[in-house]
Amino acid sequence: MANIQMEVIPEPDKGTASVLVPSSGGPQIMLRGDGDDTYICGCCGESIYENVQRGQIVNLVFKCFNCGSFNRVRGT
Ligand SMILES: [Zn+2]
Repeated sequence: MANIQMEVIPEPDKGTASVLVPSSGGPQIMLRGDGDDTYICGCCGESIYENVQRGQIVNLVFKCFNCGSFNRVRGT
């Protein structure tokens, strides 16, 4: 189990990236998988994606439900 801090990026231009925006009513874990890693917001440290398998997320941007930052996984 490892917490992986994501990289905060500016809001992507429309059409350049797939942005996952949380539903209203947070805080909540947006997504759960069956892997060993948890991705956390690079700005506020909130857990955004739990139990993900490394390499499972490619070319996705997450909008943090807590602080509104846009995050991407490093190295993709
Ligand atoms: Zn955040």
